[in-house]
Amino acid sequence: MSNLIEVSYTGDLLAHRRCARAWAYEKHIGIHPYEQVQAMEGFLVHHAMEWLTKHHRRHGVHASPAELREQLGRYFRVLWARGIRTTFASKEKTLDRVLGHLFDQASSQPQPEVKAAVEGAQHEEYPLRSVRKVMPELYGGKSKVLLTGVLDVVIHQKAELVYPQTWRWTDKANLRGEITHDEPDQAAIGDREIWDYKSTRLRHSTSCEDYVRQVVTYAALLQNRMGLPHRCVLFFTNEAPGAKERLLAIPIDQEVVNASVHWTLEQVRELRDTVLQVQQDPRSVDGGDLSKRGLPLEERVDNDLKAQCTACAQRFDCPTYHAYLAKSGQHGNGSEHPDVQRTNVEKN
Ligand code: SF4
Repeated sequence: MSNLIEVSYTGDLLAHRRCARAWAYEKHIGIHPYEQVQAMEGFLVHHAMEWLTKHHRRHGVHASPAELREQLGRYFRVLWARGIRTTFASKEKTLDRVLGHLFDQASSQPQPEVKAAVEGAQHEEYPLRSVRKVMPELYGGKSKVLLTGVLDVVIHQKAELVYPQTWRWTDKANLRGEITHDEPDQAAIGDREIWDYKSTRLRHSTSCEDYVRQVVTYAALLQNRMGLPHRCVLFFTNEAPGAKERLLAIPIDQEVVNASVHWTLEQVRELRDTVLQVQQDPRSVDGGDLSKRGLPLEERVDNDLKAQCTACAQRFDCPTYHAYLAKSGQHGNGSEHPDVQRTNVEKN
């Protein structure tokens, strides 16, 4: 038996924090959501950034919106065949939306932040694979953790990107902080940054602190190879072009880097505990946001998680979601809500 725990930062670690029950049933029992609603846009944006970067490197000029649209049209069909769906009415509307987020309509040029990322990309979609040793007695007998993730390393070619929105650390040891608009930052030529794309909207997301920890951990794990970057950047691609919420610049130093590795390994330990629990009794794993586990069941579902619950394959017998539905509407103990009625053929 392998003594390695392989953990994808987004697919495992953040998904486990979002809902340990849904993660465990999908990864360790093999029950997948019957379709992955809302994932389409995220896949398209990541693919667009990777393709735009390759195009710019190969041809020395930016691709046009029409060229990108053609490429995304092909990729859309691949995703659709894999069961990925969109919440938008049609393929055309989905592509319009992605293109609208990346290109300036009037000039047909990439938005400034897209330009900076594409022109400065050193490694597009850089695959991170980092191994850390851990104590087997704390990790259910495993002695190594392999952490994987995908990120972009950007070196600024022009000093034209300003970050009106930044992250202010309030407690570095515990990786806590807040978004501020009082301490703007600006990239200088040659600044090296680690970028991560998020297809959610910052102002609607309750996971910002986790995203910050994720990208800072990436910086920590790359430190031996590249040194510390000047800053980390989260690019919320679903925010409107020009909106100050679109980019979030995160200052980093050795203290937060050390704390992020410690925090991440602690999350892996909790994830390993869930795996061992599933092996004993899958039904004993509670649903809901892991950081809210001390709260009553009905308070463990927030807006982000609700969007996942409504398409979750485990929702029909999930006590957490039933408790949430019971609290939030006129649905008895929750089992009368259309979301969890097995005979609701329109939904299922
Ligand atoms: S219904 Fe919601 S809370 Fe329940 S397992 Fe699914 S995602 Fe988690």
